[in-house]
Amino acid sequence: MGSTALPAMRTAPQFIFFTDFDGTITQQDSNDFITDNLGFGAGLRKMGNGDVLFGRRDFRDSFQEMMDSIKAPFDQCIDTLLQNITLDAGFKEFFYWARDNNVPIVVLSGGMEPIIRALLAHFLGRDEADSLQIVSNNVAARPGRSINEEGGWQIVFHDASGFGHDKSLEIRPYANLPEGERPVLFYAGDGVSDLSAAKETELLFAKAGRDLVTYCEKENVPFTTFQDFSEIHDTVKDIVEGKINVKDAATGRK
Ligand SMILES: [Mg+2]
Repeated sequence: MGSTALPAMRTAPQFIFFTDFDGTITQQDSNDFITDNLGFGAGLRKMGNGDVLFGRRDFRDSFQEMMDSIKAPFDQCIDTLLQNITLDAGFKEFFYWARDNNVPIVVLSGGMEPIIRALLAHFLGRDEADSLQIVSNNVAARPGRSINEEGGWQIVFHDASGFGHDKSLEIRPYANLPEGERPVLFYAGDGVSDLSAAKETELLFAKAGRDLVTYCEKENVPFTTFQDFSEIHDTVKDIVEGKINVKDAATGRK
């Protein structure tokens, strides 16, 4: 059976929760943080995000520039992030609930895998972090260098798309499963790295006040907003327990 090859179908779930990492599971975006504090700064970064949001540039090019502006060794970037990035207030509880209720969480990120793994291990513990499937960009040493030296690392994109990581590639094989086998799909995100995923699931949770809300309204993508994961938790739980219909939960901006 083809579908059993899909990693999140291993436990035959009826629901799958795809989620962005930065600014969604965490309260701050780790890539923004290192760009603002160790790279070319918030001014250029915000200009770059605006260009992507309004279709003037690809996320890939804009993000590559941000990462290239950071010369600090990679291990120093991780240390800085461990000291400054905090977990969403409701995520931990949602994580355990999802695990106990066979709702696989799949992290789809435009960030770099070693940073995501380090932060998740710090917030949840190593075993819990290892239990999550993460699909993201990565990092590599520049030719003849080591990642832990000044100017020694570069981002390695997940695929050839203008997104760098086209998140729809991971979601679509689940969306295309035959009726009766196909789980209900959720997605949560906050910003420009989520544009490729925004139209792929039954219910999109967009973080209140962030760029993804603007995009969904502009593109007429059904969504509901959230402040933190406790709201997502309540809604997903109600849907899983059959108290509300997934379509009725897409209430737009609250
Ligand atoms: Mg994000």
